[in-house]
Amino acid sequence: MLYRVLRGINEIYPQACLGLFIVLFIVAFVCTMAYPMVPIILVISSVYLVIIARCGYLILRALERKVARRACARGVCPMCDHANAAVVGVQFEGVFSCTGCARVFTAKGDLQLPQETSSAPADGRSDASARTSPTTPVGLA
Ligand SMILES: [Zn+2]
Repeated sequence: MLYRVLRGINEIYPQACLGLFIVLFIVAFVCTMAYPMVPIILVISSVYLVIIARCGYLILRALERKVARRACARGVCPMCDHANAAVVGVQFEGVFSCTGCARVFTAKGDLQLPQETSSAPADGRSDASARTSPTTPVGLA
């Protein structure tokens, strides 16, 4: 539960910081003529706000990894809370994979996104371009 909350916060944190800085820019732009001290203060404080936002991101990521590592050490999937040790298995050293939700966690606690295992081409083309490509044999797909 705690991991999912931290994961959700980490997913919206960059967009929230960007929105905050856009709002501060609009406030500074609007106040340029009426209150000239507001843009000056905002420009000076924006440097410190960037540092604070970056430190907040690093702290949130560290908390997310710590919670994930602790759950993996107990044999519990951090995302779906499967308490059965057979559900969470070790693929290779330090990597945990959950068969319940198909999520993979590294030894550092990072969540790896599930890999595409379909017959998509390795060069990054989409399926539509692969179907219309003259190099792809028709009828084998
Ligand atoms: Zn899981």
